Amino acid sequence: MNIQNADLHCHSNVSDGTLTPEELAARAKANGVELWALTDHDEVGGQQRAAQAAAALGLPYLSGTEISVTFAGETVHIVGLGFDVADPGLAAGLARTRGGRELRAREMSADLERVGIAGAYEGALKYVGNPDLISRTHFARYLVEVGACRDTQEVFRKYLTEGKPGYVEHRWATLDDAVAWITGAGGIAVVAHPGRYKFSANEEYALFSHFKDIGGRGVEVVTGSHTAQDYVKYAGVAAEFGLFASRGSDFHSPSESHTDLGSLPFLSSGLSPVWEALSERVQV
Ligand code: AMP
Ligand code: MN
Ligand code: MN
Ligand code: MN
Repeated sequence: MNIQNADLHCHSNVSDGTLTPEELAARAKANGVELWALTDHDEVGGQQRAAQAAAALGLPYLSGTEISVTFAGETVHIVGLGFDVADPGLAAGLARTRGGRELRAREMSADLERVGIAGAYEGALKYVGNPDLISRTHFARYLVEVGACRDTQEVFRKYLTEGKPGYVEHRWATLDDAVAWITGAGGIAVVAHPGRYKFSANEEYALFSHFKDIGGRGVEVVTGSHTAQDYVKYAGVAAEFGLFASRGSDFHSPSESHTDLGSLPFLSSGLSPVWEALSERVQV
């Protein structure tokens, strides 16, 4: 597969994106994406629609998801690629992971009320496409709507993050479980946007060495949340730990995301692209 413009990370309104799987497929195609994966948070409910829409456009497709895990007290995201979307173990694990979101959302709302923002739960729900998947992004849209902030970036600086109003500590899946669900379903597990985590060098080393030990095989090197320096750093991590490299925009919305589908730099030569290990799983 001589592919450069792979985009293996984005979100539809089945999680916290604003476009449908079909709209994303069309946008990926229009932007010149050569291999696409929809990776909704903790959910595979959009996979069939995404694969069908991609097939109709002649756009090669890999199944995807992005699982929230708790590692060393931090939330880490693990992207799964090329798995069987009907796998019952993966479906059960994701359902369990999603299960805590409802109560968390009510607690977030109560905490926002404490600082004078009323009705945030109901307000966030208006933006939710999938009632199983209420997320901080939906609250962020509501906070913009009521004028608490100018845009969602400002929301994540002033609210909904550790130490700020509306933040609720949450325990997600374990790293071991998430990797086991993905690999058990025939897919490859990839550490998403490692440059975003607030780990010390030791903690980050522990993340990658444990991830590798339990069968994790990839790392996102080029993503919308990495700087050019991160590209170099995580290319080094891929080499050090013998991991495949992935590339994805993490696109959520035309009005909120600064990185569009298919618009990032290509992986540098010398890296092993994760899609080369997934050629049998590509749906064309
Ligand atoms: P949740 O899974 O409910 O904790 O929500 C996490 C989502 O919030 C992420 O997938 C992003 O879409 C969004 N998010 C988190 N932090 C930020 C940030 N600093 N800027 C913009 N969006 C963010
Ligand atoms: Mn998101
Ligand atoms: Mn993420
Ligand atoms: Mn994402």
